[in-house]
Amino acid sequence: DSFQDVDMGEIIMNNIALSRYTRPTPVQKYAIPIVKSKRDLMACAQTGSGKTAAFLLPILSQIYNEGPVEATNAAKTSGQENGKYGRRKQYPMALILAPTRELALQIYDESRKFSYRSRVRPCVVYGGADIGQQIRDLERGCHLLVATPGRLVDMMERGKIGLDYCNYLVLDEADRMLDMGFEPQIRRIVEQDTMPNKGLRQTMMFSATFPKEIQILARDFLEEYIFLAV
Ligand code: AMP
Repeated sequence: DSFQDVDMGEIIMNNIALSRYTRPTPVQKYAIPIVKSKRDLMACAQTGSGKTAAFLLPILSQIYNEGPVEATNAAKTSGQENGKYGRRKQYPMALILAPTRELALQIYDESRKFSYRSRVRPCVVYGGADIGQQIRDLERGCHLLVATPGRLVDMMERGKIGLDYCNYLVLDEADRMLDMGFEPQIRRIVEQDTMPNKGLRQTMMFSATFPKEIQILARDFLEEYIFLAV
């Protein structure tokens, strides 16, 4: 049981060492190879299981693998090279949806650790905070976005975020998001025309429980997924 079992590249390996993670937790041990093999995933895992790194590490590793070229392209399409007036809409390569500000911030903190010394810039947006400041942060460039569903819909309606290049999608604590009444916003985000279709994007769902409503979301959002319970 070692992070060396799967080759995630130098940046990730260095950042794992910097974060003092010595051994993968069970969900990391099983989920990382599944995500690396480009399969969709439905994972039943609790808070505290290490599920955040279980999706962030392989997603960031894939983004780094696809090369700085891709990251640069994302920056280009996001208009960062358009000069003074061009730094507007951002097209993240990965989107992570989370139910609460606290969880979104925790995921964002982990993503900052694991993207250290890379060209990938993570951002976080959540409700109940100044949207102007979040927009200014997005406009500096965003390759990986952590968001709560309501605030993301708002950002999309304001033309600040496009999901056309979002090849990695994570629904974290999906059962809690449904309990909080976010299903309409989640469907609006995932089922919009510009989001890559299932099968083209890679989708991972994490949930503590697996009731009927989550099974339906998994059926609608995932393509021939692997089911993991830890
Ligand atoms: P999570 O379940 O993703 O919220 O993670 C719970 C806590 O465990 C967080 O504080 C992580 O930083 C920490 N953690 C996750 N994976 C590992 C690991 N492999 N080794 C040590 N700590 C970890």
